[in-house]
Amino acid sequence: MTGRLQGTVALVTGASSGIGEATAHQLAEQGAAVAVLGRRRDRLEQVADKIRTGGGTAFVVVADIAEQEQAAAAVESVVAELGRLDTLVNNAGFMGVGPALDSPLDEWDRMLQVNVQGLLYVTHAALPHLVRAAEDSPRRVADVVSISSTAGRVARPGTAVYNLTKFGVNGFTEALRQELIAKRVRVSVVEPGTVDTELSTHLRDGIRETIQQQVADLELLHPQDIADAVSYIVTRDRRVAVNEMLVRAAEQT
Ligand code: NDP
Repeated sequence: MTGRLQGTVALVTGASSGIGEATAHQLAEQGAAVAVLGRRRDRLEQVADKIRTGGGTAFVVVADIAEQEQAAAAVESVVAELGRLDTLVNNAGFMGVGPALDSPLDEWDRMLQVNVQGLLYVTHAALPHLVRAAEDSPRRVADVVSISSTAGRVARPGTAVYNLTKFGVNGFTEALRQELIAKRVRVSVVEPGTVDTELSTHLRDGIRETIQQQVADLELLHPQDIADAVSYIVTRDRRVAVNEMLVRAAEQT
Protein backbone atom coordinates (compact mmCIF):
# COMPACT_ATOMS: atom_id res chain seq x y z
CA MET A 1 0.00 0.00 0.00
CA THR A 2 1.25 3.43 -0.85
CA GLY A 3 -0.52 6.71 -0.28
CA ARG A 4 -0.46 9.92 1.67
CA LEU A 5 -1.45 8.17 4.90
CA GLN A 6 1.28 5.54 4.72
CA GLY A 7 2.61 4.79 8.22
CA THR A 8 -0.38 6.35 9.98
CA VAL A 9 -3.23 4.82 11.98
CA ALA A 10 -6.88 5.83 11.67
CA LEU A 11 -9.87 4.99 13.87
CA VAL A 12 -13.29 5.19 12.22
CA THR A 13 -16.32 4.88 14.50
CA GLY A 14 -19.49 3.44 12.98
CA ALA A 15 -17.44 1.62 10.34
CA SER A 16 -19.77 -1.38 10.09
CA SER A 17 -21.98 0.30 7.45
CA GLY A 18 -22.66 3.38 5.38
CA ILE A 19 -20.38 6.40 5.51
CA GLY A 20 -18.02 4.88 8.08
CA GLU A 21 -17.52 1.71 6.05
CA ALA A 22 -16.74 3.70 2.90
CA THR A 23 -14.40 5.97 4.85
CA ALA A 24 -12.51 3.03 6.33
CA HIS A 25 -11.86 1.68 2.83
CA GLN A 26 -10.85 5.07 1.50
CA LEU A 27 -8.34 5.69 4.32
CA ALA A 28 -6.93 2.18 3.90
CA GLU A 29 -6.46 2.90 0.19
CA GLN A 30 -4.45 5.96 1.22
CA GLY A 31 -2.16 3.66 3.21
CA ALA A 32 -3.49 4.07 6.75
CA ALA A 33 -3.84 1.08 9.06
CA VAL A 34 -7.52 1.35 9.96
CA ALA A 35 -9.34 0.42 13.16
CA VAL A 36 -13.01 -0.17 12.42
CA LEU A 37 -15.33 0.35 15.39
CA GLY A 38 -18.99 -0.52 15.90
CA ARG A 39 -21.27 -2.93 17.77
CA ARG A 40 -21.88 -5.47 14.95
CA ARG A 41 -18.84 -7.73 14.92
CA ASP A 42 -19.90 -9.68 11.81
CA ARG A 43 -20.22 -6.54 9.71
CA LEU A 44 -16.93 -5.13 11.02
CA GLU A 45 -15.13 -8.41 10.21
CA GLN A 46 -16.44 -8.17 6.63
CA VAL A 47 -15.12 -4.62 6.28
CA ALA A 48 -11.76 -5.61 7.77
CA ASP A 49 -11.47 -8.69 5.53
CA LYS A 50 -12.05 -6.55 2.45
CA ILE A 51 -9.37 -4.08 3.54
CA ARG A 52 -6.91 -6.93 4.12
CA THR A 53 -7.76 -8.48 0.75
CA GLY A 54 -6.85 -5.15 -0.82
CA GLY A 55 -3.44 -5.29 0.86
CA GLY A 56 -4.28 -3.03 3.81
CA THR A 57 -4.17 -3.39 7.58
CA ALA A 58 -7.40 -3.47 9.57
CA PHE A 59 -8.25 -4.00 13.23
CA VAL A 60 -11.78 -4.73 14.45
CA VAL A 61 -12.94 -2.97 17.62
CA VAL A 62 -16.34 -4.01 18.96
CA ALA A 63 -17.62 -1.31 21.29
CA ASP A 64 -20.70 0.69 22.20
CA ILE A 65 -19.39 4.25 22.31
CA ALA A 66 -22.36 5.34 24.42
CA GLU A 67 -20.63 3.48 27.27
CA GLN A 68 -17.71 5.61 28.47
CA GLU A 69 -15.55 2.69 29.61
CA GLN A 70 -16.03 0.85 26.32
CA ALA A 71 -15.20 3.98 24.33
CA ALA A 72 -12.00 4.62 26.29
CA ALA A 73 -10.95 0.95 26.18
CA ALA A 74 -11.59 0.90 22.43
CA VAL A 75 -9.21 3.79 21.82
CA GLU A 76 -6.53 2.23 24.04
CA SER A 77 -6.88 -1.11 22.23
CA VAL A 78 -6.23 0.62 18.89
CA VAL A 79 -3.02 2.21 20.17
CA ALA A 80 -1.93 -1.06 21.82
CA GLU A 81 -2.54 -3.03 18.61
CA LEU A 82 -1.47 -0.55 15.93
CA GLY A 83 1.04 1.52 17.91
CA ARG A 84 -0.31 5.05 17.48
CA LEU A 85 -3.32 7.11 16.44
CA ASP A 86 -3.09 9.83 13.78
CA THR A 87 -6.65 10.16 12.52
CA LEU A 88 -9.97 9.94 14.32
CA VAL A 89 -13.18 9.92 12.30
CA ASN A 90 -16.17 10.45 14.60
CA ASN A 91 -18.85 9.00 12.39
CA ALA A 92 -21.07 6.72 14.51
CA GLY A 93 -24.52 8.18 14.81
CA PHE A 94 -28.22 7.60 15.24
CA MET A 95 -31.10 9.62 13.84
CA GLY A 96 -34.63 9.64 15.24
CA VAL A 97 -37.07 12.12 13.73
CA GLY A 98 -40.73 13.04 14.04
CA PRO A 99 -42.85 15.64 15.83
CA ALA A 100 -41.56 16.40 19.33
CA LEU A 101 -45.05 15.89 20.78
CA ASP A 102 -45.12 12.23 19.73
CA SER A 103 -41.47 11.37 20.21
CA PRO A 104 -40.49 8.71 22.72
CA LEU A 105 -37.96 10.03 25.20
CA ASP A 106 -35.69 7.02 24.73
CA GLU A 107 -35.18 8.01 21.09
CA TRP A 108 -34.03 11.47 22.19
CA ASP A 109 -31.78 9.87 24.83
CA ARG A 110 -30.20 7.60 22.24
CA MET A 111 -29.34 10.47 19.91
CA LEU A 112 -27.65 12.32 22.75
CA GLN A 113 -25.87 9.19 23.96
CA VAL A 114 -24.40 8.26 20.58
CA ASN A 115 -24.11 11.52 18.61
CA VAL A 116 -22.90 13.64 21.52
CA GLN A 117 -21.70 11.66 24.53
CA GLY A 118 -20.23 8.80 22.49
CA LEU A 119 -18.38 11.26 20.28
CA LEU A 120 -17.05 13.04 23.37
CA TYR A 121 -15.94 9.84 25.08
CA VAL A 122 -13.99 8.68 22.02
CA THR A 123 -12.50 12.11 21.37
CA HIS A 124 -11.45 12.57 25.00
CA ALA A 125 -9.66 9.22 25.00
CA ALA A 126 -8.07 9.85 21.60
CA LEU A 127 -6.73 13.39 22.08
CA PRO A 128 -3.51 12.60 24.00
CA HIS A 129 -2.60 10.03 21.33
CA LEU A 130 -3.38 12.44 18.49
CA VAL A 131 -1.24 15.15 20.08
CA ARG A 132 1.63 12.66 20.40
CA ALA A 133 1.21 11.54 16.79
CA ALA A 134 1.33 15.16 15.59
CA GLU A 135 4.59 15.64 17.50
CA ASP A 136 6.46 12.59 16.34
CA SER A 137 5.18 11.58 12.91
CA PRO A 138 6.94 12.53 9.68
CA ARG A 139 3.72 14.30 8.60
CA ARG A 140 3.75 16.36 11.87
CA VAL A 141 -0.03 16.60 11.87
CA ALA A 142 -3.02 14.65 13.21
CA ASP A 143 -6.74 14.89 12.44
CA VAL A 144 -10.14 14.68 14.07
CA VAL A 145 -12.96 14.68 11.54
CA SER A 146 -16.52 14.55 12.86
CA ILE A 147 -19.48 13.68 10.68
CA SER A 148 -22.17 16.22 11.45
CA SER A 149 -25.01 16.87 8.98
CA THR A 150 -26.84 19.59 7.11
CA ALA A 151 -28.94 19.22 10.27
CA GLY A 152 -25.97 20.80 12.06
CA ARG A 153 -26.54 24.00 10.08
CA VAL A 154 -30.26 24.12 9.30
CA ALA A 155 -33.04 23.36 11.83
CA ARG A 156 -36.34 21.98 10.52
CA PRO A 157 -39.62 20.86 12.13
CA GLY A 158 -39.41 17.19 13.11
CA THR A 159 -35.67 17.05 13.66
CA ALA A 160 -35.29 19.14 16.82
CA VAL A 161 -33.17 16.74 18.85
CA TYR A 162 -31.14 15.51 15.86
CA ASN A 163 -30.50 19.23 15.18
CA LEU A 164 -29.49 19.68 18.82
CA THR A 165 -26.89 16.93 18.55
CA LYS A 166 -25.47 18.00 15.19
CA PHE A 167 -25.39 21.74 15.98
CA GLY A 168 -23.57 20.61 19.11
CA VAL A 169 -21.01 18.68 17.08
CA ASN A 170 -20.37 21.78 14.96
CA GLY A 171 -19.87 24.01 18.03
CA PHE A 172 -17.62 21.49 19.73
CA THR A 173 -15.56 21.13 16.55
CA GLU A 174 -15.00 24.84 16.09
CA ALA A 175 -13.91 25.41 19.70
CA LEU A 176 -11.65 22.37 19.70
CA ARG A 177 -10.19 23.40 16.34
CA GLN A 178 -9.01 26.71 17.75
CA GLU A 179 -7.73 25.08 20.92
CA LEU A 180 -5.59 22.49 19.14
CA ILE A 181 -4.05 24.65 16.42
CA ALA A 182 -0.80 24.97 18.36
CA LYS A 183 -0.66 21.21 18.80
CA ARG A 184 -0.96 20.59 15.05
CA VAL A 185 -4.12 18.56 15.51
CA ARG A 186 -6.59 19.66 12.84
CA VAL A 187 -10.25 19.45 13.83
CA SER A 188 -12.80 19.41 11.02
CA VAL A 189 -16.44 18.79 10.38
CA VAL A 190 -18.17 17.24 7.38
CA GLU A 191 -21.89 17.97 6.93
CA PRO A 192 -23.53 15.48 4.58
CA GLY A 193 -26.89 15.98 2.96
CA THR A 194 -29.01 12.89 2.39
CA VAL A 195 -26.86 9.81 1.88
CA ASP A 196 -28.10 6.38 0.82
CA THR A 197 -27.28 4.35 3.97
CA GLU A 198 -29.00 2.29 6.66
CA LEU A 199 -29.57 5.40 8.81
CA SER A 200 -33.23 5.83 7.86
CA THR A 201 -33.97 2.11 8.41
CA HIS A 202 -33.67 2.74 12.16
CA LEU A 203 -36.55 5.24 12.13
CA ARG A 204 -39.84 4.34 13.83
CA ASP A 205 -42.56 2.59 11.81
CA GLY A 206 -44.69 5.18 10.03
CA ILE A 207 -41.97 7.85 10.23
CA ARG A 208 -39.58 5.65 8.24
CA GLU A 209 -41.99 5.32 5.30
CA THR A 210 -42.73 9.08 5.33
CA ILE A 211 -39.05 10.04 5.27
CA GLN A 212 -38.17 7.46 2.63
CA GLN A 213 -41.04 8.75 0.47
CA GLN A 214 -39.80 12.35 0.85
CA VAL A 215 -36.48 11.44 -0.76
CA ALA A 216 -37.79 8.82 -3.19
CA ASP A 217 -37.37 11.06 -6.25
CA LEU A 218 -34.02 12.46 -5.20
CA GLU A 219 -30.71 11.12 -6.44
CA LEU A 220 -29.07 10.53 -3.06
CA LEU A 221 -25.41 10.86 -2.19
CA HIS A 222 -23.41 7.64 -2.00
CA PRO A 223 -21.41 6.88 1.17
CA GLN A 224 -18.32 7.12 -1.03
CA ASP A 225 -19.07 10.80 -1.71
CA ILE A 226 -18.65 11.57 1.99
CA ALA A 227 -15.65 9.26 2.31
CA ASP A 228 -14.06 11.33 -0.47
CA ALA A 229 -14.60 14.50 1.59
CA VAL A 230 -13.01 12.95 4.68
CA SER A 231 -10.11 11.63 2.66
CA TYR A 232 -9.54 15.03 1.07
CA ILE A 233 -9.37 16.69 4.49
CA VAL A 234 -6.95 14.26 6.11
CA THR A 235 -4.58 13.93 3.15
CA ARG A 236 -3.83 17.68 2.91
CA ASP A 237 -0.34 18.89 3.68
CA ARG A 238 0.08 20.19 7.24
CA ARG A 239 0.01 23.80 6.02
CA VAL A 240 -3.65 23.31 4.97
CA ALA A 241 -6.64 22.97 7.32
CA VAL A 242 -10.01 22.28 5.73
CA ASN A 243 -12.24 23.27 8.64
CA GLU A 244 -15.66 22.39 7.24
CA MET A 245 -17.22 20.65 4.24
CA LEU A 246 -20.95 20.83 3.45
CA VAL A 247 -21.83 18.20 0.84
CA ARG A 248 -25.44 18.07 -0.32
CA ALA A 249 -27.05 15.86 -2.95
CA ALA A 250 -27.14 18.04 -6.04
CA GLU A 251 -30.96 18.14 -6.13
CA GLN A 252 -31.34 18.82 -2.41
CA THR A 253 -32.61 22.25 -1.26
P1 NDP B 1 -25.51 3.94 9.25
O1 NDP B 1 -26.72 3.61 10.07
O2 NDP B 1 -25.19 3.10 8.07
O3 NDP B 1 -24.22 3.98 10.17
C1 NDP B 1 -24.24 4.31 11.52
C2 NDP B 1 -23.04 3.67 12.17
O4 NDP B 1 -22.98 4.07 13.54
C3 NDP B 1 -23.08 2.16 12.14
O5 NDP B 1 -21.82 1.68 11.73
C4 NDP B 1 -23.35 1.77 13.57
O6 NDP B 1 -22.68 0.55 13.86
C5 NDP B 1 -22.69 2.93 14.32
N1 NDP B 1 -23.22 3.09 15.67
C6 NDP B 1 -24.47 3.48 16.02
N2 NDP B 1 -24.59 3.50 17.36
C7 NDP B 1 -23.38 3.13 17.85
C8 NDP B 1 -22.87 2.95 19.16
N3 NDP B 1 -23.63 3.16 20.24
N4 NDP B 1 -21.58 2.56 19.31
C9 NDP B 1 -20.81 2.33 18.23
N5 NDP B 1 -21.24 2.48 16.97
C10 NDP B 1 -22.51 2.87 16.78
O7 NDP B 1 -25.71 5.46 8.84
P2 NDP B 1 -24.78 6.55 8.13
O8 NDP B 1 -23.59 5.93 7.53
O9 NDP B 1 -25.67 7.35 7.30
O10 NDP B 1 -24.37 7.45 9.38
C11 NDP B 1 -23.06 7.83 9.70
C12 NDP B 1 -23.06 9.25 10.23
O11 NDP B 1 -23.48 10.15 9.19
C13 NDP B 1 -24.02 9.51 11.41
O12 NDP B 1 -23.36 10.31 12.36
C14 NDP B 1 -25.16 10.29 10.75
O13 NDP B 1 -25.81 11.11 11.68
C15 NDP B 1 -24.42 11.06 9.69
N6 NDP B 1 -25.23 11.56 8.59
C16 NDP B 1 -25.90 10.70 7.76
C17 NDP B 1 -26.69 11.21 6.74
C18 NDP B 1 -27.49 10.32 5.84
O14 NDP B 1 -28.32 10.85 5.08
N7 NDP B 1 -27.31 9.03 5.83
C19 NDP B 1 -26.79 12.65 6.50
C20 NDP B 1 -26.02 13.45 7.40
C21 NDP B 1 -25.27 12.92 8.39
P3 NDP B 1 -23.28 -0.64 14.77
O15 NDP B 1 -24.74 -0.73 14.49
O16 NDP B 1 -22.49 -1.83 14.29
O17 NDP B 1 -22.95 -0.26 16.16
